[in-house]
Amino acid sequence: MNILILGSGGREHALAWAVKQNPKTDRLIVAPGNAGIAQLAECADIDILSGQAVVTFCEENAIDFVIVGPEAPLAAGVADATRAAGLLTFGPSAAAAKLEASKAFTKEICDACAAPTAAYARFTEAAPARAYVTAQGAPIVIKADGLAAGKGVIVAMTLDEALAAIDDMFGGEFGAAGAEVVIEEFMQGEEASFFILTDGTHALPIGTAQDHKRVGDGDTGPNTGGMGAYSPAPVLTDAIAQRAMDEIVLPTIREMARRGTPYQGVLYAGLMIEQGRARLVEYNARFGDPECQVLMMRLGAQALDLLLACAEGRLDQARVNWADDHALTVVMATKGYPGRYSKGSAIRGLDALPETSSQMVFHAGTTARDGQITATGGRVLNVTARGATLAEAQARAYAIVDAIDWPEGFCRRDIGWRAL
Ligand code: ATP
Repeated sequence: MNILILGSGGREHALAWAVKQNPKTDRLIVAPGNAGIAQLAECADIDILSGQAVVTFCEENAIDFVIVGPEAPLAAGVADATRAAGLLTFGPSAAAAKLEASKAFTKEICDACAAPTAAYARFTEAAPARAYVTAQGAPIVIKADGLAAGKGVIVAMTLDEALAAIDDMFGGEFGAAGAEVVIEEFMQGEEASFFILTDGTHALPIGTAQDHKRVGDGDTGPNTGGMGAYSPAPVLTDAIAQRAMDEIVLPTIREMARRGTPYQGVLYAGLMIEQGRARLVEYNARFGDPECQVLMMRLGAQALDLLLACAEGRLDQARVNWADDHALTVVMATKGYPGRYSKGSAIRGLDALPETSSQMVFHAGTTARDGQITATGGRVLNVTARGATLAEAQARAYAIVDAIDWPEGFCRRDIGWRAL
């Protein structure tokens, strides 16, 4: 079959890598793609936020299956457009993707199905929000309602910080995303990510992971899009995962269906785990980046069969063939990230690295010019490896990192520390 993947990051490189291994794949196109993706698939420069542009491209290229990677095209209704055109699609409708696009909506769903999550209040004006946090005290969490690329959440450890965050959000720092503000109880515990495929009715867990948001070793420094991840996350034991399915995930899926907006795609539940129980921090409507890289490394070629079963509404017949393995990915970023950084530095040594089912360098922000790979983003490479143990996966990943010649790049040296 002919498959189109939308997106251009390490997540989409990993998806393309797994899909490509499946014999069902004839032609694989990624739009817009990147220099790493171009080594295994065709890249096409189309406007992936335009449903019409994507549908036209699919019709012209006889595409059989569309996989939507990032949240922006989902929120823009691209999956609605492709489905309306009769194209088999992996990814939720805009109405269902609201589970990521609106934090207030997610809270409303949790209320409706009694899913455990932090206590909260919603505000559209600064004065009552200020009065609320003053009464509640710190620590407290202030969130812009809409999509703000991970920057719209302030975990305020003091009342002053909380009040400043409220003023910033209502002052327009996040534009329309901050027109409504959700204020939440601060939850203690350890965070983990839980990934579930759902066709709107059936649900199939496809793995757990933990990421590393801070830029520096020991979880220090500013927040980033993620500096590394590993799977599985031991903190999410089978018992806790089952309870999270029963108390959070399945009630959410039923509630979305009941409202006439069934959720179809991957549901990424960000969980806070404390004393043997998970509470919901947030939902995302797509795979995490870089968590997708470790999930795809573990699933391999069967990932396409699972995504197809999801899109075709037959997840009740699907199952995951689990290997007893571990995967870990180290993000290499341009020095200066997440602050200012320069673009265009040369990355050498990638050609000499073996790419196997157990180790891959996924590209996130690269371009190829005259046969030379250059860095064009903050997060640039995702060095990913698999092993019989997490320690083995970690050792392999760092051995590859050390073989890459890129003086302008850096990475954390402690990915996986929580589980090791
Ligand atoms: P991202 O895209 O980075 O996942 P987001 O903007 O979607 O972020 P959330 O995931 O809701 O926002 O919050 C970001 C981070 O803030 C969480 O990963 C968690 O560490 C912390 N956080 C959010 N809500 C709470 C809470 N109620 N208690 C404690 N920490 C929280």
